[in-house]
Amino acid sequence: MISVNIMKFIADEMLGRLAKWLRILGYDTVFVKNIRDAEIIRRSIIERRILLTRDTLMIKRKGLKNFLFISHDHTIDQLKQVVNELRLPQPDNPFSRCVVCNTPITTYSKEDACRTVPEYVCNTQDVFGYCQECKKIYWKGTHYAKMLKTIEGLFIR
Ligand SMILES: [Zn+2]
Repeated sequence: MISVNIMKFIADEMLGRLAKWLRILGYDTVFVKNIRDAEIIRRSIIERRILLTRDTLMIKRKGLKNFLFISHDHTIDQLKQVVNELRLPQPDNPFSRCVVCNTPITTYSKEDACRTVPEYVCNTQDVFGYCQECKKIYWKGTHYAKMLKTIEGLFIR
């Protein structure tokens, strides 16, 4: 059975916003900066990640097999390209990864969250997530509904 998370990605430095969106969808996505092309390719092979790149020289390099050349300028168009060309299924676990560092988000008790988050958040939210790596606390704030709508729009075919 194919799981949504079976596809993993590595995005080059021109695609930071795309990488964030793939994490929002729940995909394990590494974003690399200031690393030589050969090293990016090596990592994509070793970790079985599909390389997402806008670099026309990169895709001509030897040894590179699993890649998608991103042709669009705008992030949501880029995301649509990935979804369509790789036939990604609609994720059943969006918002499950930290957008900052790609770590899976763990559940966090309201009690713990309310020690840190602003009072109005504590008063209006019941469900919280936490990134162990960068200590970021997540909740379904004002961006959430908008992002959910964007995600749904990606999968209307
Ligand atoms: Zn994090």
